[in-house]
Amino acid sequence: MESKVIPAEIRILNYGGKKRAYWFMKSKVIQELRKLYPSAKIALRHANPLQLLVAVMLSAQCTDKMVNRITPALFAKYRTAKDFASADIRGLEGMVKSAGFYRTKAKHIKDACKIIVGKHGGKVPDTMEGLLELPGVARKTANIVLSNAYGKNEGIAVDTHVKRLAFRLGFTENSNPEKIEKDLMAAFPRSEWNKVTYLLIEHGRAICKAPVPLCSRCALAGICPKNGVSKSK
Ligand code: SF4
Repeated sequence: MESKVIPAEIRILNYGGKKRAYWFMKSKVIQELRKLYPSAKIALRHANPLQLLVAVMLSAQCTDKMVNRITPALFAKYRTAKDFASADIRGLEGMVKSAGFYRTKAKHIKDACKIIVGKHGGKVPDTMEGLLELPGVARKTANIVLSNAYGKNEGIAVDTHVKRLAFRLGFTENSNPEKIEKDLMAAFPRSEWNKVTYLLIEHGRAICKAPVPLCSRCALAGICPKNGVSKSK
């Protein structure tokens, strides 16, 4: 379903029986989340854009903890895009096996690095267009690489936590990640996009869990439109 065509800044929603201005609610949410998670940031360990790209590619359908267990040995063996591009595919698959979907992930990493070497001189592209040309890279991955490796806020990475919390907190009525991203981009200033992502992820992991959130322990209960929700919505 499309979002209503009412400008986000003047949208009025019904929060727990009280009418609250949308702008007040969203700034209050972020204010509270900043207090709860003052050091919210990306959890994938990396030392350069290539390591971040590979770690994000491995993190699909896999926890960040598991990826962080895999990558030290992986990055010690494959140090450059050229190393990944010329890797023996069976050897690469073996090293990323615990991440799940390892054949596809290994192939995407190898093929992406071939393009990085052939077209970008071995440097991970720093544009949305360049990143989206790489196999296995969609907007979520591109946004994470651009904002965390290059300090460029081109969009907002919508993962499973961001998707769930954006809906529960009333920032979107969409289920399509690209539409959710647009709604979030309209709701927050560009300078906040990276921070918003990791604040929502932290809260999703700690309290606003799937399928059932821990509303009775939530600091946002007083302003959340879905306080008390019992299903995975
Ligand atoms: S009140 Fe419940 S649904 Fe709302 S943010 Fe908190 S845990 Fe999530």
